[in-house]
Amino acid sequence: MSEQTPASGPTTDGPADPEHDSTAAYGLDRAYVSGLTRRVVSTTGETAAVASPIGRTPLAHVPQSSPADVAEAFARARRAQKSWAATSIDERAAALLRLHDLLLDRQDELIDLVVWESGKARKDAYLEVAHLALTARYYARTAHEHLDSVRVGGMFPVLTRAEVNRIPKGVVGIISPWNYPLSMALCDGMPALLAGNAVVSKPDAQTMLTALLAAQLLDEAGFPPELWQVVAGPGPEVGGAIVAHADYVCFTGSTATGRKIAQGCADRLIGCSLELGGKNPMLVLRDADVQRAAEGATRAVFSNAGQLCVSMERLFVADQVYDRFVDAFVSRTQAMTLGASHEWSVDMGSLISQAQLETVTAHVEDAVAKGAHVLTGGRHRPDLGPYVFEPTILEGVSADMECFGTETFGPVVSIYRFHSEDEAVDRANDGQYGLNASIWTRDAARGRAIARRIACGTVNVNEAYGATFGSLGAPMGGMRESGMGRRQGAEGILRYTESQSVATQRLMPIAPMFGMSEETNAKVMTTALRLLNRLGRA
Ligand code: NAD
Repeated sequence: MSEQTPASGPTTDGPADPEHDSTAAYGLDRAYVSGLTRRVVSTTGETAAVASPIGRTPLAHVPQSSPADVAEAFARARRAQKSWAATSIDERAAALLRLHDLLLDRQDELIDLVVWESGKARKDAYLEVAHLALTARYYARTAHEHLDSVRVGGMFPVLTRAEVNRIPKGVVGIISPWNYPLSMALCDGMPALLAGNAVVSKPDAQTMLTALLAAQLLDEAGFPPELWQVVAGPGPEVGGAIVAHADYVCFTGSTATGRKIAQGCADRLIGCSLELGGKNPMLVLRDADVQRAAEGATRAVFSNAGQLCVSMERLFVADQVYDRFVDAFVSRTQAMTLGASHEWSVDMGSLISQAQLETVTAHVEDAVAKGAHVLTGGRHRPDLGPYVFEPTILEGVSADMECFGTETFGPVVSIYRFHSEDEAVDRANDGQYGLNASIWTRDAARGRAIARRIACGTVNVNEAYGATFGSLGAPMGGMRESGMGRRQGAEGILRYTESQSVATQRLMPIAPMFGMSEETNAKVMTTALRLLNRLGRA
């Protein structure tokens, strides 16, 4: 692995006092930071520091919201939503397209902030911008397809006209994680706004500045400022208040927290979508292009230092190509450039925090203590950044090891040999998760056939995760304990609407006519039903 020292960064740790923080040392101007943090709904007078994994010194001190502030954010959003819902679909779609252009125009600023807050490689931060641009364009261009009222067959042809309207839910609460701070802050909110809703957003405390810059771009794109409220604070307290007020909750995060959100929503009889964790399998079949699969595996496993819900943590490789694949994968991994900096040359960046570093280290140490072999990596690299951990490939992992079935959410993969495809499918389906899978084969049709047997919400053939993630018309989400509901595609926007059926009856009532008895009416109806079936009507 080649080494990379930070291109810039702090020389001293900054104090936790907002009056004396040293944001300027990071290239973050104090006025710029306070312009962003002003957007938080907060009356508490309390702040929390946002640190950078590139140097640990606070980047900013973000005002904290109380449950009463969350209630106020919902009240404001509710007022704004009423007039927003009355705007035309075209007007809302146009704002989304302006946001699309702003995201691309302001990408350097966005990427810089994402890297400061998360420590990820610049290329990974760019993918967040690209994902949002794809999302904005997809929903803006398909808005009518999803949201227009549609005519459906009425009870009686000609006599009954029936249509289905899409009514916005009202105010959507969005609770998002830190791992893709820009993408997760906005991608679920765009379709919510387009469908005529307002949003109260609670980003993760570690990546508030990126989420606040995203909110600022919404304002600049012409969305009414009150329509998108941002609150800040600890998950259980502020996230809990979101669940208490929202008309619908969109949550992305761990399965453990997702379960609590679902329980809170069930108590209030409101809907929710849950995008949760995974222990994603990649299958390399005997006819795979080994070099291509090995190159794909580095992206599948080490993108965003493995802090990616759809990244691969279990690699199953056919006997026939196992040795060749392992050689190629290990040598490609060893050629990766590591670092904690803003440079484009970094292949894999830092973990975000001490907590992440501890989990990753514990999983590797536990596996090694119980007999796993480290094929490459396995070490913390404080010389490159406080939370940098080497990309790590483990062989000989068994069910008694922590990393066998528990999500590591770091740059660690276990590699296993398989002898038959049935066995590979069974092992891929093992465990409680079902988020994403990847299959490598020269026979794409066979790959697609195997995909149908894998219990995951997305399956990529000859790609890691980008093919499904970037195909915005395709729903994305988890089966089993990896989630409920879907983002992207029709499901990603219809979740924010209530369907309302309106049927208008013409000329004749749905009741006996002309003094007809109920018995005669039943006979006439039966004849009509038989006739309609013969005519092939729905
Ligand atoms: P987390 O569940 O701890 O936190 C996620 C969000 O929930 C944060 O904003 C947090 O403040 C908030 N939160 C925490 N406790 C809460 C509570 N009791 N009530 C309401 N809100 C609460 O998750 P994390 O560990 O920070 O994020 C990593 C996890 O997210 C991983 O498991 C990863 O797989 C998952 N993830 C899934 C997807 C997906 O699309 N499926 C995407 C990104 C991350």
